Amino acid sequence: MTLSDIQRLLAELETHPTRSLGQNFLHDQNLARSIVALLDIQPGDHIVEIGPGLGALTEFLATPETRLTLIEKDSRLISHLKSKFEHGTNRVFHADALEFDLRELWGHGPVKIIGNLPYYISTPLIAKYASALSPASALVLTLQLELAQRLGAAHDTSDYGAMTLCTGRRWDIRLERKLPASVFFPRPKVDSAVITLRRKPRARVRAIDDSIFESLVRRGFSERRKQLRNLLPEFKNDWEKISAALGMPPTVRAEQLSPAQWESLAFTAAPATAQHGNERFDIVDDQDQVVRSEFRDVIHVNNLLHRAVHMLLFNASGELYLQKRSIWKDRNPGLWDSSAAGHVDSGEDYLTAARRELQEELGIEAPS
Ligand code: SAM
Repeated sequence: MTLSDIQRLLAELETHPTRSLGQNFLHDQNLARSIVALLDIQPGDHIVEIGPGLGALTEFLATPETRLTLIEKDSRLISHLKSKFEHGTNRVFHADALEFDLRELWGHGPVKIIGNLPYYISTPLIAKYASALSPASALVLTLQLELAQRLGAAHDTSDYGAMTLCTGRRWDIRLERKLPASVFFPRPKVDSAVITLRRKPRARVRAIDDSIFESLVRRGFSERRKQLRNLLPEFKNDWEKISAALGMPPTVRAEQLSPAQWESLAFTAAPATAQHGNERFDIVDDQDQVVRSEFRDVIHVNNLLHRAVHMLLFNASGELYLQKRSIWKDRNPGLWDSSAAGHVDSGEDYLTAARRELQEELGIEAPS
């Protein structure tokens, strides 16, 4: 869209850019095209745009081979977006992207997300759409330059911090290019930058407890000039040993630890343990007759036939409740699973196992 396209469209819609919605419309078509190219769109992709506005990026996203989902908060722009882009499988949602139910997106496989984000809510939007539970495989985002620099910061620089580490745990983040304020109408007061986030393969995401990692990182960076030993009292007694194991002096500060060293610190706080190593289950034949019992690990390593229960829970609207398996699981970590599931213990019957799992996993007492 050119500047005159934007001005004409605003006049047609009898509207004007609203500062409280972070409305700065992109009027450089070459830039729009090159930002969209970063998404590496393939036939069959499901693309989600946050805050399409007047459609500056959208017009390069809409192709017959892709499914498009647009989420726009400004009611004044919805009929224009619907008439221009809502055809075939494309959908325009009049919604606040912060409140948007991500289950709408999971239904169609992995998505690629793009957005020239409203600056006033960029941080919570990234927290939501780049969270562990996001269906996104990649994100291309235009942000305030300062935030983009913090996200893409290298270790041991002044921009490196909690945001870099917490987002960078699951994403390869790259600051692609800076954008001057002059490419937007109206001109924002600050410069912008485009960043890409590409999901790391699971093998590169170390299995540690996210909440412990985030808590350590946030407290560690809460006072950058302080030494970590004064900010993380839980390590106080062993700090000499722990810092030496990280290859750092005891006086180390937050920004001196690399992402891998932060993960090691979180691992020290809560080491992963082999799951339930000494549980025993019955091994059965193909007629479900018990042959003998064996330890869990032996059963799993040798792929021996054993018993399990899976429960499916629906709410009153017919929606199915699914669980994502923990990353600590020895089998199929991180995959979607039934509402509740578990092994049948040695000597236990299916119904008793189902009742026990419902209670243990969901706190539900099944009626008898
Ligand atoms: N993508 C357009 C462009 O590049 O010209 C518009 C970008 S403008 C910076 C941000 C857009 O996000 C606006 O259209 C604004 O109305 C929309 N927006 C603001 N807050 C929103 C929210 N909470 N949820 C969804 N859209 C929002």
